[in-house]
Amino acid sequence: MTKIYLINPNELIHDFNEVVDKAQKIAIFTVGIELQKKEIEDLQEYIDNLSIQRKELATKNNGNDANLIYCFERLAMIIQSELKMLVSLKEDKMAIAWDILVDCQVHLGTVIRNYPFESDNLEHYLQRLHNYEKTLFPKMSFFSTGGFVKQSFCSICKKDYGSCDHIKGKLYNGELCTRNITEIELEEVSLVENPANKHCRVLHTEVNGIKTDALTLRKINTKS
Ligand SMILES: [Zn+2]
Repeated sequence: MTKIYLINPNELIHDFNEVVDKAQKIAIFTVGIELQKKEIEDLQEYIDNLSIQRKELATKNNGNDANLIYCFERLAMIIQSELKMLVSLKEDKMAIAWDILVDCQVHLGTVIRNYPFESDNLEHYLQRLHNYEKTLFPKMSFFSTGGFVKQSFCSICKKDYGSCDHIKGKLYNGELCTRNITEIELEEVSLVENPANKHCRVLHTEVNGIKTDALTLRKINTKS
């Protein structure tokens, strides 16, 4: 199915590629932290511009165009987050670095599902993020929660989720549909290797009353 665009997607892609080429040269661990911080700021300018364009297109109901801009805006944010992860690692903020990486993976998955063009490059990028996870962080244990959702609403139309036609994870007029859960009856929590949510991880281990951070292996001082 070919989508019709009112804006020129080639121009958008050209600009995006320029921005990304520059950012990717900086998103290497050995590059100076001050250059990486500067690049984070530069990307913000580009992201803000795209956000304005997306909202303008949405008010004109140019849905395909607004969705396309969402993808580029989100991709720029992911690269910006990758830089933030590198800065966090250098600043010894390991838990923050982990959370940023997990968010990048989730957001990139969303873009890949909604991207209207061939997405091989994005799949490679997802692999790069996976490689970060496997080489920079220890093998982690996660929790998975099972339960019964009692109340949730659709982020697009605010109706009860399931009572409208919107589907979570899909784009509608430049906005991502999410299922916002407001009430859940928790039934079980189990330890798993492949969780739905990698933020939900084991933070520390405890042996003989001594707590050890799962990421840094530092002893956690529990005296307060
Ligand atoms: Zn809805």
